Amino acid sequence: MARYTGPVCRMCRRENQKLYLKGLRCETSKCSFERRAYPPGRQGQRRSKPSDYAVQLREKQKLRRSYGLLEKQFRRVFDRANRMQGMTGTNMLVLLERRFDNVVYRLGMAASRAQARQLVTHGHLLINGKKADIASMLVRPGDVISLREKSSNMDVVKASVEAGPSRTLPQWLEFDPEKLVGQVKQLPVREDIVEPVSENLIVELYSR
Ligand code: SF4
Repeated sequence: MARYTGPVCRMCRRENQKLYLKGLRCETSKCSFERRAYPPGRQGQRRSKPSDYAVQLREKQKLRRSYGLLEKQFRRVFDRANRMQGMTGTNMLVLLERRFDNVVYRLGMAASRAQARQLVTHGHLLINGKKADIASMLVRPGDVISLREKSSNMDVVKASVEAGPSRTLPQWLEFDPEKLVGQVKQLPVREDIVEPVSENLIVELYSR
């Protein structure tokens, strides 16, 4: 699966917000955004009033980068949300939140979404006891997420669980840290999505 391989901390500085893309490092003083909280590049410290388009674009980039998607993948999620009943922006957030890699991250089994995606694509995880190695698949209520037996002692998972996630477990998921097993209790709703995002700006951008 295609993914971004460029400098990661640059994206936080570009979006003027911590996106927590590097796991445990993001909580330390090594965080680049803590040290240089201004956009990258020579023009980074210039300030001018952004246009409406620029504001919408930044909001979309921020959300897309938070979930670690490329433009084409993100657009596909938006198009699917647009075809669903209800509010497109909310549908889009719920679809992103239900992605398997995001759920592994939310459960605290990985320190970042990138690490969660690697665990998934390398086949370390099961859904309802069956191998599941597609990061973009959507979880459903009742799904049980666990580690493959061979992977049950993985240090990265233990370190992430033991570090205690800075994020709190959303109410639509539950997790047993002893057994390293999670379950989807119900589908997420808008209130469960804690990322500070104005989804309406993204809908406006794609409706231009
Ligand atoms: Fe962003 Fe984490 Fe890098 Fe800080 S350490 S700039 S939060 S990715």
